[in-house]
Amino acid sequence: MARKPRFDILFDPVRIGPVTAPNRFYQVPHASGMTNTMPHGRAAFRAMKAAGGWGTVCTGAVSIHPSSDDAPLPLARLWSDADIPTHALMTDAVHQHGALAGIELWHGGAGTMNRVSRIPPLSPSGLGWMPTHVGFIGNQKSRAMGREDFAALRGWYAGAARRARQAGFDIVYVYAGMGYLLHEFLLPALNHRTDAYGGSVANRCRLIGEIIEDMRGATHGACAIALRISLEELRARPGLHAESEAHEVVMALSDQPDLWDVKMDSSPSDCPASRFAAEGSHEPVIDFVRRLTTRPVVGVGRFTSPDAMVSQIRRGVLDLIGAARPSIADPFLPRKIDAGCEDDIRECIGCNICIASWHEGVPIRCTQNATVGEEWRRGWHPEIFVPRGSNDRVLIVGAGPAGLECALTLGRRFYDVAVADRSGQPGGRLVHETKLPGLAAWRRALDYRLNGLRALANVSMFLDSDMKIDDILAFGAERVVIATGAEWTRALYDARLEVPGPILDAPGVFTPDDVFAGRVTTGPVLVFDYENYYMAGCIAEQLARQGLQVTYATPAGHASAWSILTNEQPRVYEALAAQGVALHTTVAVSGFDGGVARLVNIFTNAAREISCASLVIVGHRSGRDALHSGLHATRETWADHGIRDVTCIGDAAAPGAIVHAIHAGALYARDLDMPPSDMPYALDELFTDPVAGAIREIA
Ligand code: ADP
Ligand code: SF4
Repeated sequence: MARKPRFDILFDPVRIGPVTAPNRFYQVPHASGMTNTMPHGRAAFRAMKAAGGWGTVCTGAVSIHPSSDDAPLPLARLWSDADIPTHALMTDAVHQHGALAGIELWHGGAGTMNRVSRIPPLSPSGLGWMPTHVGFIGNQKSRAMGREDFAALRGWYAGAARRARQAGFDIVYVYAGMGYLLHEFLLPALNHRTDAYGGSVANRCRLIGEIIEDMRGATHGACAIALRISLEELRARPGLHAESEAHEVVMALSDQPDLWDVKMDSSPSDCPASRFAAEGSHEPVIDFVRRLTTRPVVGVGRFTSPDAMVSQIRRGVLDLIGAARPSIADPFLPRKIDAGCEDDIRECIGCNICIASWHEGVPIRCTQNATVGEEWRRGWHPEIFVPRGSNDRVLIVGAGPAGLECALTLGRRFYDVAVADRSGQPGGRLVHETKLPGLAAWRRALDYRLNGLRALANVSMFLDSDMKIDDILAFGAERVVIATGAEWTRALYDARLEVPGPILDAPGVFTPDDVFAGRVTTGPVLVFDYENYYMAGCIAEQLARQGLQVTYATPAGHASAWSILTNEQPRVYEALAAQGVALHTTVAVSGFDGGVARLVNIFTNAAREISCASLVIVGHRSGRDALHSGLHATRETWADHGIRDVTCIGDAAAPGAIVHAIHAGALYARDLDMPPSDMPYALDELFTDPVAGAIREIA
């Protein structure tokens, strides 16, 4: 197929100062969790996007000095010449595909705690960035910068820029966003200075302007200098001479950077989950920038629709279509648009599991794209599949995320595959969960796989097929995969050991499976959550929307506690408040008699009673692995039926989030008939010799 002419504009080259981006697809800086200690994995992750057609590919934040130390979050750095080779691996790999390579040079200021370096963090006025925020809370306060600190900071930026050029980067960033040091200078709430760096907008911008010029000198004009800036709070502040202070800041620095990379102020507003924000959510804040500069502007908005991208350009909002999440979910998004195959795009579902992996301090993973982070260590490619290693037929029982991913990947490896599901529709948990408030975009995880399967004549789907052990034995497949999912239990919570407690099998006690089946109809309802992710919050919201009076209770300190990692939590509170849901935290349900539930404080044991007719327990899930254990009990008959092995995957084996199920399906399918190995994946290696880039294996 050929590219649709209306998308041609996306493939225009764009001049960025001294360099030219080959097209408008721009992977903005975003975290990978793969630090300098995983240089090959990091390079392969970024290079995959260049291979997929992203014309510019950037690093995540790279610290310029030990006084910017974000530990225990994964920290990439360019502190000395010894750090150059690890970054050169990435620039070489990206350049091989004709893309530009950008580096986000970063000083965290009071947004870091410097837990490793133990250097007091620097700030304009000794104030912290969100110091009481539950995710960042810490005891180390910052130190107001003195005169000598300005010279040092400018030297660090210039030195890092020089090294970035040596490492092969085409674009070097000044980072004035997300509460980090240079953003702190822009915000009057954090910048109380009375010298040349505080007060007026011109003064608050001064340091950024100086650093841009320092970096231009340090790179001898060979690199483009990009300014990444957060505009949310500034846009909310009326300006003296223009509509807002954001306008005044952009006017003050107008053509000084070669590129404006514009964004929001904090992770929840910058990368909101699709549950609470649609594609293009930044536009109301950043829409004015392009009118105030002749330099190109890049911004993000979880864009996966090429029509939405074209609209951003034609309406004069953006010159370059920035992406983090869409480029993670589908590194080949640009090539698919170029080939006229935009229906094949693996669209980001906006679940923010990728962001949670950063917040958890581990290498990146993605719900939609199981190959993310596996490019180098397992050699997985999102679009290329090793042909099958045998002529075995594979029967997959269960068409949930694990079964469908497994079928799609095996199908693309040319295996003969049959998928059986007892339901009349494929999708497993996705069928129900995508009907919960805000989760409609997660349907993309199902649609992408069904769309891919439709193109494969070697995969057959058998619905309304409740498979029993005899059916499987008689089926005639050499390989059997059990992907039958998990079910929610009515187990209460043992607060002392923090494990599931006794099963409460009584009238009026329900699980999420009952909610999906429409069995919870009588209020008031108490939703008791010790799973702590999205499910209980969504269910509380849904039942309240149905007109039931709902109370939410959890042993955790916050509602939907784990969802702070996916940026959902603040919006969960908003959503529950909007529906009038009452919240109780640090409590466990110790009993329910059909009319009254007893809540006990997990620290003090203080008890209180809540009137409710229904109790929904969102706690423990149990793998549906009976087919797997039953088949293993018949092991001696397998040979008679031609069966070589039976494997349990996904929620049936180990209940988890959808990301785990999809990865499990991919893992089985990619590993089938591959040579066995002692190690599940290759271990990354460090460069230790700054000159030769010699490699020493990690012990
Ligand atoms: P996962 O997240 O691991 O993919 P799901 O719960 O989403 O798990 O999907 C499991 C699927 O398995 C569901 O669609 C369910 O209908 C199906 N299933 C469970 N038991 C059987 C069975 N005995 N025969 C056929 N399908 C089954
Ligand atoms: Fe999108 Fe979720 Fe993948 Fe992140 S993890 S890129 S939000 S699909």
